[in-house]
Amino acid sequence: MTIAIYPGSFDPITYGHLDIIKSGAEIFDKIIIAVSNNQNKKGFLPIETRINLIKESTKDIKNVEVEGYMGLTIDFAKKHGAEVLLRGLRTSFDFEYEMQLSQTNYTLDNKIKTVFLITKPEYSFISSSAVREILANKGNITQFVPIPVEKYLKSIQL
Ligand code: ADP
Repeated sequence: MTIAIYPGSFDPITYGHLDIIKSGAEIFDKIIIAVSNNQNKKGFLPIETRINLIKESTKDIKNVEVEGYMGLTIDFAKKHGAEVLLRGLRTSFDFEYEMQLSQTNYTLDNKIKTVFLITKPEYSFISSSAVREILANKGNITQFVPIPVEKYLKSIQL
């Protein structure tokens, strides 16, 4: 059984993330979405809210679990018996950063491999930071985030 960890901030989860999760769930036996609770990075949404929104957005995908974590991703992966770190690639800008991250993680533990999936063209411009910016300026986020996320973000905007 191959378990893959999909780590990230998911602040909030977008259609781009969901695309990677759906594809990953077809390839691996289990995907654990690992939501980072980085103490140095003040998040937009609290970790519990991010986790709940991911759970609602992925409820139809059977082999997906969601969990928050602190510390090194590689330690979280080891704790769960995962062999794969799943990451998404949008552009060559992502590639530079992701390559370094993957090589760092490989150096920390060479048994855990990073696998990249390239997003579908229609989602390649989507980022959580763009969603936050659009929201702050009262723009329309319908095309960017799953329905439960849109509903929640609209409710807190009132
Ligand atoms: P991090 O802070 O770890 O970059 P993110 O939530 O921004 O967390 O991203 C998590 C993962 O999802 C990263 O591998 C990122 O490249 C990928 N990702 C983000 N947005 C998209 C998208 N629109 N399409 C595909 N992958 C994406």
